[in-house]
Amino acid sequence: MGFFGIVRQWTETRKKKRIANFELQGTCPNCQGKGFNMLESEMMMGSYYDCPGCSGSGSFSDWADLNQ
Ligand SMILES: [Zn+2]
Repeated sequence: MGFFGIVRQWTETRKKKRIANFELQGTCPNCQGKGFNMLESEMMMGSYYDCPGCSGSGSFSDWADLNQ
């Protein structure tokens, strides 16, 4: 395994750990359970959009259904 292989494996491991953390909390990794994503500029205008990862529910199980 070359250097890039090691880096890739390390990144994958970190990603899995991060996702496992959200699984424990039962929240969507994309929006941290909020159910939507919002940019600060959009917040000022009062507009936001549903999280594409969990289609707006904020729950980990919905995210897992849609992403695995
Ligand atoms: Zn979400």
